[in-house]
Order: sequence, then C-alpha cells, then structure tokens
Amino acid sequence: MSEKELHSGGCSCGAVRYETHGKPTRVAVCHCRYCQTRTGSAFGMNVYFEDSQIQITSGELKDYSFLNNAKRQFRNRFCPNC
Ligand SMILES: [Zn+2]
Ligand SMILES: [Zn+2]
Repeated sequence: MSEKELHSGGCSCGAVRYETHGKPTRVAVCHCRYCQTRTGSAFGMNVYFEDSQIQITSGELKDYSFLNNAKRQFRNRFCPNC
C-alpha cells in the first residue's frame, strides 16, 4: 500500500487555498535577514516542495522576486489581498 501524505492550507483572508501532496523535499530553519523580517522573529521555518507537489485549489497569486542578503534568488507567491 502506498503512503499518501496530503496537507492543505491557505492565506489569512481565505481567498487562496492550496494542497501539497507527498513529503517535502526539504524542511529548514533559516535566520537570514529576510526570514527575520517576514516573521518578526529570530528565524523562519521553511518547508519546500517541488512545483508538481503543490496545487492551488482557489484564488489568484501575485509574484515577488528578490535577492536575499546571501545573494540567493527567491520568488514569493502570495495573496494580493492579505
Ligand atoms: Zn488572502
Ligand atoms: Zn531565510
């Protein structure tokens, strides 16, 4: 029997909903300046999936790309409402 792992979640206003299928490729704690800024904390908890493992089930996403202080390229996708 194959093991299935399904998680669902969404944004604060409820417009965007998503599902992830399978185990994450990486789980990490990061203390870069961006993670500190976005969380208002000393570090951020990050969970990574392949694009094929993520399904947006409702809502529209907006993109924002930037280089963090370690010169690493990131692309954020988020709800434009909240
Ligand atoms: Zn929202
Ligand atoms: Zn970070």
